[in-house]
Amino acid sequence: MKEYPGATGLILNEPLLWEKGKQGRSGFSMPRRDVAPQPLDDRLAGDGPDFPQLSEIDVVRHYTRLSQWNFGVDTGMYPLGSCTMKYNPKTNERQAAQPGFARAHPMLDDDLCQGILQLMYDLEQFLIEITGMDAATLQPAAGAHGELTGMLLFHAYHKSKGAARSKIIVPDTAHGTNPASAALCGYRPVAVKSNDQGILAPEAVAAVMDEQTAGIMVTNPNTLGLFEENINKISAIVHAKGGLVYGDGANMNAVMGIVHMGQIGIDVLHLNLHKTFATPHGGGGPGAGPVCVRRHLEPFLPVPRVIKQKGRYRLSQNFKHSIGRLHAFYGNVGVLIKAYSYILSMGAENLKKASQLAVLNANYIKEKLKDTFHLAYDRPCMHECVFSDKLQQPYEVTTLDMVKRLMDYGFHPPTIYFPLVVPGALMIEPTETEAKEDIDLFIDSLKAIAAEARDNPELLHAAPARCRRKRLDETTAARKPILTG
Ligand SMILES: *Cc1c(COP(=O)(O)O)cnc(C)c1O
Repeated sequence: MKEYPGATGLILNEPLLWEKGKQGRSGFSMPRRDVAPQPLDDRLAGDGPDFPQLSEIDVVRHYTRLSQWNFGVDTGMYPLGSCTMKYNPKTNERQAAQPGFARAHPMLDDDLCQGILQLMYDLEQFLIEITGMDAATLQPAAGAHGELTGMLLFHAYHKSKGAARSKIIVPDTAHGTNPASAALCGYRPVAVKSNDQGILAPEAVAAVMDEQTAGIMVTNPNTLGLFEENINKISAIVHAKGGLVYGDGANMNAVMGIVHMGQIGIDVLHLNLHKTFATPHGGGGPGAGPVCVRRHLEPFLPVPRVIKQKGRYRLSQNFKHSIGRLHAFYGNVGVLIKAYSYILSMGAENLKKASQLAVLNANYIKEKLKDTFHLAYDRPCMHECVFSDKLQQPYEVTTLDMVKRLMDYGFHPPTIYFPLVVPGALMIEPTETEAKEDIDLFIDSLKAIAAEARDNPELLHAAPARCRRKRLDETTAARKPILTG
């Protein structure tokens, strides 16, 4: 039988520390006392908090076991579409942890943190070069925060032209944060449908674009993993009516250094450093969503901005049209250091190559699995491909059943039921960092699962069989989490 990486051996149970603790156990030996004992202040006397009493090995085993219940990209393939869960080299973490960076205080005088200021200045230049834009801010803390920044920039731009506009066009293949960000900024999102090719038709945009519309938000590549091939025409239609084009660049991993976003008409673009540029994510840790703009939007960028004057770097508030501050201090600087380190360690050619490999891997999976699963749009994809459970419906097996089974085979499930335009979607993004052997094992696992769906559907309805937790009531788990164990 083929060996899959799924759990086959020990899965250890682990009680709460409070259940494990025993009176009088200790994990720490106090140094011998060399002063006379002193009675405690009354305010400190009493029983103190209810901490469990544990030996060192109790604590080590407890946390080691808990860590083994988790799954991350360091454990195995994590092909979560629209998320770019690629492996992030550890050297970037190490650079960000260097004491000169990690201990720098955000209130330091500019003269005492020239290194970090230079790093931020250079990183802006790198991102500008990679995207083909003209200026950037590193402040926004996430992709959606970048979108909000972009919408505030749109608003400031239109106000400067003396015409506040009220609507934003958002295609059905945009990321869900796009309409939310537009609405948060007071715009009314206007939906347009993608065509039967899974991309936007210029005519559909022309039909809704008018002089009350501030612009359009385009996710490119879109959430079907397809490149918006009509983007030039669409940008021209929007620009002709005085609107602006927002590019959601969270999927930059497919097009790093390859697509010149300025040339295809994008006015404002955000990037997710915590997807494409070496910050691990998924655990809710800090991220960064820098925003790049074309020259005509530069005056509105958030302050402070890093500027270079006579060979020195300074933070300047001196931009009178700025939309103001988006984040305390200068953004999540640790994330910026990792991106800088990643970009330098890769170099221009390898950044492009990473994108080429990400696209190649996704197309390889698409081709290998398109006879096994229904392929929503049968055309070359970018960094991810979208299948559905249509071919498994006769066996009453759903996408959810199949990805639960995938966990038994040792893989993190792909994104499911998104994008919404594909019912029962199974959205796979392998990224460039997976080796061919691992991708082949993943493909074989999904083929084996499709065979099980046909021959033994009950197995899939009961999956996962080998995981610590079986099926959760996901709605209740999200709405009423029990965090105490
Ligand atoms: C992840 C993602 C976002 C949102 O990014 P956050 O950092 O989670 O706010 C926006 N758009 C696209 C296309 C994405 O994939």
